Amino acid sequence: MHTNKTILVTGGAGYIGSHTCIKLLEAGYDVVVLDNFSNSSPEALRRVESLAGRPTTLVQGDINDHALLARLFGAHKIDAVIHFAGLKAVGESVEQPLRYYHNNVTGTLALCQAMQTAGVFNLVFSSSATVYGDPASLPIREDFATGATNPYGRSKLIIEEILSDLHRSAPEWNLALLRYFNPVGAHPSGRIGEDPSDIPNNLMPYIAQVAVGRRDHLSVFGSDYDTKDGTGVRDYIHVQDLAEGHVKALEWLDRKEGLKAINLGTGTGYSVLEMLKAFEKACGKPLPYKLVDRRPGDIASCYADPAMARDVLGWSAKLGLEAMCEDAWRWQRDNPKGYE
Ligand code: NAD
Ligand code: UDP
Repeated sequence: MHTNKTILVTGGAGYIGSHTCIKLLEAGYDVVVLDNFSNSSPEALRRVESLAGRPTTLVQGDINDHALLARLFGAHKIDAVIHFAGLKAVGESVEQPLRYYHNNVTGTLALCQAMQTAGVFNLVFSSSATVYGDPASLPIREDFATGATNPYGRSKLIIEEILSDLHRSAPEWNLALLRYFNPVGAHPSGRIGEDPSDIPNNLMPYIAQVAVGRRDHLSVFGSDYDTKDGTGVRDYIHVQDLAEGHVKALEWLDRKEGLKAINLGTGTGYSVLEMLKAFEKACGKPLPYKLVDRRPGDIASCYADPAMARDVLGWSAKLGLEAMCEDAWRWQRDNPKGYE
């Protein structure tokens, strides 16, 4: 199958981007990747191509490079952009706010300017459940109040507002703001997955590194939350399901319904200890952990109301906790040092 459509994927070599590129190639789209490899490896794209059996076009560079963007849109007839490129480490964003705002916010401005000049008005943007801050109730619906507690989250909120202004200014823009919950897991082949360059901040890659012997134990951040077992509850979503959600979002853009913010989550919350138990089952061994203090800024529970994605995109998550852990473990076991 071939769609005759070309999608620009910024950040396409990254964790979510690489899985999405495979789904796009499989769905018949041509793919141009723009990535500066600040948090990824060209090897991920080589594996994407070998898994999908089709090539991508790589443009190596920065979304803040106006001249490069102009050349890219001049050389390729782009139908839509999926914009993953961004920095995502919350703690680092507190220490380096200017770097985060420049990369994420100014970079998105540069991208949108280049799109407008080229007459490309279809954009899927990677937002995050972090824009809900500490929600007043659960599950979280898209019409809930937003608020950010750190520069990373604020960069996502600011971009959402900029994109809303853009849509108000010119109705030809079609914009899907996808608010991801907690992406985990890997491609079932075990060939691509999440490859944090530093000590992982996120739960699942940390557990996976304990399982493979790179870390000696998991620190469970807080055991006195008002949750089922006292540990934090999140809505973990398989990256394969998430990738599929982007293909559905492209189809929605074609219906030209303007701008929408849409949750991509499963609607089910699991605690830290439930995640640990499920991973122990997948890797077949007990994993050491210690209960420690809460991590500053963390909330007790967060999970999505996924109804809008179902109704608007015709998408819902299919893969459960077992597949998330089995696939994450296969990737970590077969690539103990990631793409290195
Ligand atoms: P990632 O770091 O693996 O991927 C991001 C990619 O963008 C990397 O390949 C990086 O090299 C590239 N990049 C960063 N800045 C760039 C720039 N200025 N120019 C060109 N390329 C650049 O992250 P991910 O987990 O795949 O996340 C993708 C997007 O989804 C990000 O915008 C992130 O904020 C958002 N998101 C991620 C999560 C999560 O938990 N993984 C949750 C919610 C939202
Ligand atoms: N968490 C933990 N130990 C870790 C990393 C995370 O106990 O080493 C907990 C964290 O407190 C939260 C859950 O795991 O309750 C998910 O954290 P993550 O950073 O992956 O996602 P986020 O907090 O952004 O939702």
